[in-house]
Amino acid sequence: MSGNNRARTRFAPSPTGFLHIGGARTALYNWLYSRGNGGDFILRVEDTDQVRSTEESTRAILDAMIWLGLSWDEGPYFQAQRIDIHRQMVEKLLVGGKAFCCDCTPEQLEERRKEELAAGRKPKYGGRCRERGLKRGPGVAVRFRCPDQGTTVVDDLIKGRVTFNNEELDDLVIERADGYPTYNFAVVVDDALMNITHVIRGDDHLNNTPRQILIYEALGYKVPFFGHLPMILGADKARLSKRHGATSVMAYKEMGYLPEALVNYLVRLGWSYGDQEIFHLKELISIFTLEAVGKSAAIFNPEKLLWLNQHYIKTADNERLVDDMLPFWKGRNIEPRSRGYACAVVADLKPRVKTLVELAEAGTFYFHSDLRYDEKAAEEFLKPDAATILTALAAELPSQNNFSKEAIDSFLRSFAQQRELKLKAIIPPLRVALTGKTVSPGIDEVMVTLGRPEVIRRMEKAIAHIERL
Ligand code: GLU
Repeated sequence: MSGNNRARTRFAPSPTGFLHIGGARTALYNWLYSRGNGGDFILRVEDTDQVRSTEESTRAILDAMIWLGLSWDEGPYFQAQRIDIHRQMVEKLLVGGKAFCCDCTPEQLEERRKEELAAGRKPKYGGRCRERGLKRGPGVAVRFRCPDQGTTVVDDLIKGRVTFNNEELDDLVIERADGYPTYNFAVVVDDALMNITHVIRGDDHLNNTPRQILIYEALGYKVPFFGHLPMILGADKARLSKRHGATSVMAYKEMGYLPEALVNYLVRLGWSYGDQEIFHLKELISIFTLEAVGKSAAIFNPEKLLWLNQHYIKTADNERLVDDMLPFWKGRNIEPRSRGYACAVVADLKPRVKTLVELAEAGTFYFHSDLRYDEKAAEEFLKPDAATILTALAAELPSQNNFSKEAIDSFLRSFAQQRELKLKAIIPPLRVALTGKTVSPGIDEVMVTLGRPEVIRRMEKAIAHIERL
C-alpha cells in the first residue's frame, strides 16, 4: 500500500541551524523515493519561526544538499512567503465551524494547566473559547476544533498502523495570536497544495500526524501516505547529539569526507539490502524501498563511516580527488606545481588514507623542497654511512634513462647487489632524504612522482645535512 505511482516527496527543513545527519538522511530517503518512483522531489524551507530562522542557515542547508548530490525539482519554496494562503485556509475552517478563535492569555492557559496537573489529569486546553464566537483579530489565536470522540488512524508505511484517540489530541492552535500559522497547520496546507503524495520524515513527528490528518480532512484534502523514520542514536543509545562527534553534514566535508561516503553511510542507517554495504547513489534509486526501512532506531557508527570514506577515496578518480583536495592544500599554503603533479600525488596517497585531511597531511613533503626532517627519523637514518650510499645513488641516478617505477625498482636492487648491501640499508635513508619521514608511499612511487631532478636535489640536501653533523 505504498501508492508507488509518481511519488511527489519533499524535504521541509526549518532553517534554524545546519543540515544534520538526521535531516540529511530524511532528505536522502525522500530524494530516493521520488527518483525511484518517477516523481519529483520538492524543497520547502519552513521559515515561519521568525525568531529562529536565518538566511545563513537556509544557505548552509542548501549547500549541504548540493554537496550530497540531492538535487530538487521544485523550490526552494519559502513557507513565510505563503502566509496569505495559510490565512485564507484558516478562514475557510472558521467559516465552516471547524476552527474557532481563542483569546486565552498565556497566564490563563498556564493556570488551567496547573489545575489539571493538580487534579492528576493530563493538561488539556479545555475548550474555554470553543463556543464564545470570538472574532479573528490581533491578539486572538485560532484553534482547530478537534473531535472529542473517535480515533484517528495513521497507516504508516514504516511503523504500520498506529491509532490515536482524538480525545488526546486537543484543540490545537493553528494560527498564533501574532497572525502566524503554526507548523501543524502550515505543513498540511503546503503539502496538500504542493500535491505531496508521500510525507517521509523523522518519527519525532509521528504524534503530530493524527492532528495533521484531521486538518487534511477538515480542509477536504486528500491525505498523503506517511512514513516515519526511526531516530538516529549514538553508541550509548542516547539521541545523536554533539557529544557523539560532528553531526553537521558540512563538518564532514571539512573533515575530508567524500559526499558519496556520507550518502552511502546515511542510506544504510536504518535501511538494508541483504549483506551489501557499498551503494552508489544511482544504483540506490532502483533498489531503495520504504518497506526495507527498519522500525527501530539506528545507531550512528563513526568508524563505519570512516571505513566507507577510505573505500571511496581509494577508488576515486585522480582528477576528481585533485579538485576536492585543492581547498585542503590551499589551507596549508600548498599550490601544486601542475595539475599532473597533483594527480600523481593523490595517486600515490589515496590507497593509504582515510580522509582528505589525512591525504593533505601525509602528502605535504611532495610540495616542500625545503624539507624539514622528522627529528627521530633523521637521527636514526641520516648518518655518515648513509651519506656514502646517497652520494653513490645520486651519482648513478642521472644515467638511468628510464625513470619508471619498475626501472627504479630494479635499479635499486642491482645497486644494492653490486655493493653487497641489503635494501634495508638503502631504502630507509633514501626515504628520509626524500620525504623527511620513515613512513610514506612506496619509495619507487615517490621517486617517480617527485621526478628525477627533485629526487637528486633532495638527496644532495640530505648529504649536506649529514656532512654538517
Ligand atoms: N520543518 C519541520 C522540521 O524540520 C518539517 C517536518 C515535516 O517534515 O513535516 O521538523
